Amino acid sequence: MVAISYEDIVKVPKALLHDHLDGGLRPATIVELAAEVGHELPTTDPAALGVWFTEAANSGSLERYLETFAHTVAVMQTATALRRVARECALDLAADGVVYAEVRFAPEQHLEQNLTLDEVVDAVVTGFREGSALAAEAGAPIRIGTLLTAMRHAARSQEIAELAVRHRDTGVVGFDIAGAEAGFPPTRHLDAFEYLQRENFHFTIHAGEAFGLPSIWQAIQWCGADRLGHGVRIVDDITPGNPAVLGRLAAYVRDKRIPLELCPSSNVQTGAAASIADHPIGLLRDLRFRVTVNTDNRLMSGTSMSREMALLVEAFGYGWKELQWFTINAMKSAFIPFDERLRIIDEVIKPAYAELIG
Ligand SMILES: [Zn+2]
Repeated sequence: MVAISYEDIVKVPKALLHDHLDGGLRPATIVELAAEVGHELPTTDPAALGVWFTEAANSGSLERYLETFAHTVAVMQTATALRRVARECALDLAADGVVYAEVRFAPEQHLEQNLTLDEVVDAVVTGFREGSALAAEAGAPIRIGTLLTAMRHAARSQEIAELAVRHRDTGVVGFDIAGAEAGFPPTRHLDAFEYLQRENFHFTIHAGEAFGLPSIWQAIQWCGADRLGHGVRIVDDITPGNPAVLGRLAAYVRDKRIPLELCPSSNVQTGAAASIADHPIGLLRDLRFRVTVNTDNRLMSGTSMSREMALLVEAFGYGWKELQWFTINAMKSAFIPFDERLRIIDEVIKPAYAELIG
């Protein structure tokens, strides 16, 4: 088999379901925006700042990792800044060969300059639309769906859920909750999830990253999540072997084809996996869970969708067949309408990989 290079991976279409807007800024943009608003950074050299972010995120704890967001969120407080960051996000993903992406952010974190929640969403959605149009002109079309995140330690989830539904026809395709898991179970936000279900809306929940099975169980069986943000600790309910033995929760997740939004580099940084080679993605793929590959925070992890796939190729020896499988899994699990998903799978993804798989 011919080795797959990073450059080859950039060229093939990829689909991404779990990417944070405030975790993917260009370092140079942070420096410029920080200068405009007088926000102090650890360094104003873009290259050094990029290194600072990855090093701070490499400390091994989710809480420390979340601290790096103080700087990115600080420079995303005006409509102009939000629009620019979203536009550049679309362009960067498209340049990396991503043809479909769901990018999430928490509107409640962008109100320091007195924007309303609706103005925040409008600015981001406009930025994605502008970036997608520029990318299409440059020959790299990308479709972006926006997910609105509520912070799990806060008490605004119902308000954010209503905001998401209000913007469902202009680019918002789903809802999410994020933030430190310990002490903040998803069941605190049951009202929001029940509201979303009554509205026939889609949502994913950050669960089973730093925290174990109870968090995954609550997200699915109490809250009704369509997908699991990470969900990597589902391996705690699997006894490896030949054959592996699945507990009732792991069996349910696999039987129901509940998508796992796995983020290899991010999981290693937060200590949810010891290394890429030790990442449960290998086992979960072998057991045919609905596994997807994601970036989480491109800036903090110094990564991209192509890099995540290249790391998996290196660690597990995957070929184009496996990369296509991850990509189609993600596209099948997207929150946009079924006919649109099918079109991207049949007209964009399958033809490109068919040439490589032969
Ligand atoms: Zn995340």
